[in-house]
Amino acid sequence: MSKEHDGMICRACGNEERASEGYPCTECGTFICIICSLRGVSLCKECAAKSDKTPSAAPGDS
Ligand SMILES: [Zn+2]
Ligand SMILES: [Zn+2]
Repeated sequence: MSKEHDGMICRACGNEERASEGYPCTECGTFICIICSLRGVSLCKECAAKSDKTPSAAPGDS
């Protein structure tokens, strides 16, 4: 193979970007592309949605 495919799907914007240039989600470690990182996105869609619903710690169930 002469062309290496190191693309990964960004879990924030859904685009396929180079894995070597991306960053992990600070919450779950899934791939976030460098474009999102430059926009200030450090969380994937799922984690962003979660943190949006629960800005602070969830109520304890103890
Ligand atoms: Zn992205
Ligand atoms: Zn995440």
